[in-house]
Amino acid sequence: MAKKKGKTRAEFRKKHQGRVRDADLTRQFRQRPEENSIEDAVQAERLSGKGALTRKKTIAGAEREVDDDGGLQVDLKVDQTNLVQGRVLSVHGLQSKVLGQDDNLYACSTRQVLKSLATDQRGVLVAGDRVWFRIEHRDGVGRMSASQRAGAIRLEGAGENSALGGQSDQIVVADGMIERIEPRHGIICRASRGKQHVIAANVDALLIIASAAEPGIKPVLIDRMLLTAAQCEIEPIIVINKVDLVDFASLQALVGVYASLGYRVLPTSAETGQNLEYLRAFLKQRQTALAGQSGVGKSSLLNAIEPGLGLAVSHVSAENQKGRHTTTASRLIPLSDGGAVFDTPGIRQFQLWDIEASEVAGLMPDLRPYVSHCRYPNCLHLAEDDCAVKNAVADARIDARRYDAYCHLLEDDLVA
Ligand code: GDP
Ligand code: ZN
Repeated sequence: MAKKKGKTRAEFRKKHQGRVRDADLTRQFRQRPEENSIEDAVQAERLSGKGALTRKKTIAGAEREVDDDGGLQVDLKVDQTNLVQGRVLSVHGLQSKVLGQDDNLYACSTRQVLKSLATDQRGVLVAGDRVWFRIEHRDGVGRMSASQRAGAIRLEGAGENSALGGQSDQIVVADGMIERIEPRHGIICRASRGKQHVIAANVDALLIIASAAEPGIKPVLIDRMLLTAAQCEIEPIIVINKVDLVDFASLQALVGVYASLGYRVLPTSAETGQNLEYLRAFLKQRQTALAGQSGVGKSSLLNAIEPGLGLAVSHVSAENQKGRHTTTASRLIPLSDGGAVFDTPGIRQFQLWDIEASEVAGLMPDLRPYVSHCRYPNCLHLAEDDCAVKNAVADARIDARRYDAYCHLLEDDLVA
């Protein structure tokens, strides 16, 4: 099963670590000095969980150390009386839109001391953050101008209808000052130009959406997103949409493999409504990120689940799609029953990747039990002798298609 061995695996390199783990790759980079920049080699940005870039610093006024790698742990001595709890829907420069627990929308600034905690000031807050903020009177300092306010009240891309549980006017009721950011879990990062940027925080689940037809199902994309979920330690659920277009029996074998690995698989149809109640129940009380190729029906499913959301469906506007592709900001769309979904451009398109070749097998539950039994501790399970993973494939203890996907992921597909 050995595949093109000489191919560069530049995408596995974490530039900020300042070294390359794969010796062959180091050699390749030395031999090709014109490609001395990872940005040249890797066109696409990559997506990862919380990475290895961790530094600690302590600041005056902070109760404990701050982990500024994206898993920002901010715990200031803040008097929480008179503070309102909320979650960050989107961030625009120094302003963020925060949905308060009172269901009102606030345009918030961030307290200076919190900003100084972040190495990259742009990254101090992201969609999904849970915050405590102080409501500021409109005649107070930090008041927005009329034009700023006008810009802030529109949840871009959400159409005329509000994402806020069907309220028709998405109005910022007041300004606010964020005094505290809760510790994060479920972090999704984008690695770009050797730096990691958190693009979504407190992601409880990753909804991996494929379609049974138009476009046809691509299991390797599902496998890839399962790896991302495993790496980010976020619960995945596989949705196979457009089942109205096929005889579901044709998908049984594939679904069986995922189900046997312990993954939840949900066949749906935005057209007929099949299993939408189940999906609605899943999305309730969670912050869920959506991943899936363009055209599989992400917007259609959300619109069916939350009438009034008014997300643009692919064929409606090519312009709109284009806009989504170029934006890197993510936003959180609240659902009326308490859940929320992330609209995160990079995740939607499977473009992003950041994982070490040696980590991949360990993140696949079917390959993982065998990796420690290979003859070579650094075995990549490709061309090596005495490979326990390949032996397990040979006697069908590992599904051959999954192993094939593993080989693809390692050698072909990591740069989308
Ligand atoms: P997105 O790019 O993933 O957001 O996909 P869209 O929601 O824009 O849907 C792409 C196309 O697939 C549109 O023409 C939808 O009408 C269609 N579509 C979405 N869900 C279904 C479904 O369950 N069944 C069928 N037959 N078509 C669907
Ligand atoms: Zn092996």
